[in-house]
Amino acid sequence: MANCAIVGINWGDEGKGRMVDLLTQDYDVVVRYQGGGNAGHTVINEHGKFALHLLPSGIFRKGVVNILGNGVALDPENLWIEMQQVMAQGVTLTPDNLKISDRALLLLPWHRLLDELEEQRLADKQFGSTKQGIAPFYADKFAKKTVLAGELFYPEQLHAHLIDLMEWKNLTLTRVYGAEPFTLEQLENWLSAYCEKIKPYICNTGAFLKSAQRDGKRILFEAQLGSLRDLDYGIHPYTTSSNTLAAYAPIGSGLPSARIDRVVGVVKAYSTCVGEGPFVCEIFGEEARLLRDAGGEYGAKTGRPRRVGPIDLVATRYGVEVQAATEIALTKLDVLSYMEKIPLCTQYELSGEKTDQFPFPTALAGAKPVIEWMDGWMCDLSDIREWHELPLAARRYVEAIEEAIRCPITYVSVGPERDSMIIRK
Ligand code: GDP
Repeated sequence: MANCAIVGINWGDEGKGRMVDLLTQDYDVVVRYQGGGNAGHTVINEHGKFALHLLPSGIFRKGVVNILGNGVALDPENLWIEMQQVMAQGVTLTPDNLKISDRALLLLPWHRLLDELEEQRLADKQFGSTKQGIAPFYADKFAKKTVLAGELFYPEQLHAHLIDLMEWKNLTLTRVYGAEPFTLEQLENWLSAYCEKIKPYICNTGAFLKSAQRDGKRILFEAQLGSLRDLDYGIHPYTTSSNTLAAYAPIGSGLPSARIDRVVGVVKAYSTCVGEGPFVCEIFGEEARLLRDAGGEYGAKTGRPRRVGPIDLVATRYGVEVQAATEIALTKLDVLSYMEKIPLCTQYELSGEKTDQFPFPTALAGAKPVIEWMDGWMCDLSDIREWHELPLAARRYVEAIEEAIRCPITYVSVGPERDSMIIRK
């Protein structure tokens, strides 16, 4: 089994966590290569139910080495809290099964505060940030105004570096936002309460990955969020601040020489979206509530109700293209079982013309969905494990999506548990 990336095709929350959890049985190493603690991957297995934010979803498998790559927004506080929660549920974490890149940059204590202050300033023009400090972190990463995790091994230099950064950041906090400045004491508390705890896990993961590659180990690259949230290819400015595409996996993982042979794109059987921004196929009112409740569509991190709609084939086809997906996992088909007729957004109408093309971000707000309907199946799918046992209407629905997005659907999931999966190969 060659290298594989698991990525989201849409707006995130497609069910990537459970796909990584399933596929890790065939892989030796799982790497998170971008993003931070601002979204959650839900995994349900023999240890219980987990909402992972930073930890790779391979941590439940014995023998799998999990890596937080250099592309991740490494938040020591959130990571340590999450590690403690997972360990309390019976999962073993050691420097052998969890490794943090010494080249990952630290999300500093003021990043979260800055996120909050900026959302307050924006008032009703908010982007719907999860206020985890992700945008301020990545802004500072590219401005080279944060520190590498590996600097924790050089305490003297680190101290001087952090004081410089704090003095600089206090200018923004006090003069731009009128907030209290950060103090050295706060920084020291943060270092000892969180950074010291994660320090034993920090190492040269690039060297580890290179030797894993030489030894023919199978590597799984795990993405957060989806194509439409990619900083460069998504629905700017309603994107995240990192690259969610599979093409970024080699860079953000610490293995720039990696070739990704297999890209499993995860698509939900309907659409959901968290936060602000254009969402062409959105539905409202009672119809939306029914779908939201059937799918349990409330944010894993924030509990916010997600915006919902029918599957958007225009956006999904675009997502498949930019991810260069080689196959698709379609999740949550079971959620649609209550619908007599199932809507699909097959095209957009833009300035009176129908189009199959995903528009330029600024034009997206003016797009209207073109809806077609297919027959529903109106029965429970959750115990089905074989493709041919699915009702004909369900197979037709899956095949219609497959044809529209021009990519084979090899997995169809019919429930949240590890084995609620139809493998179509
Ligand atoms: P991720 O961030 O892409 O991993 O997505 P989420 O954490 O939002 O996961 C999707 C949610 O749907 C989780 O609560 C999963 O347990 C659940 N889920 C995943 N696949 C299925 C499925 O096929 N059917 C149902 N009913 N729930 C699913």
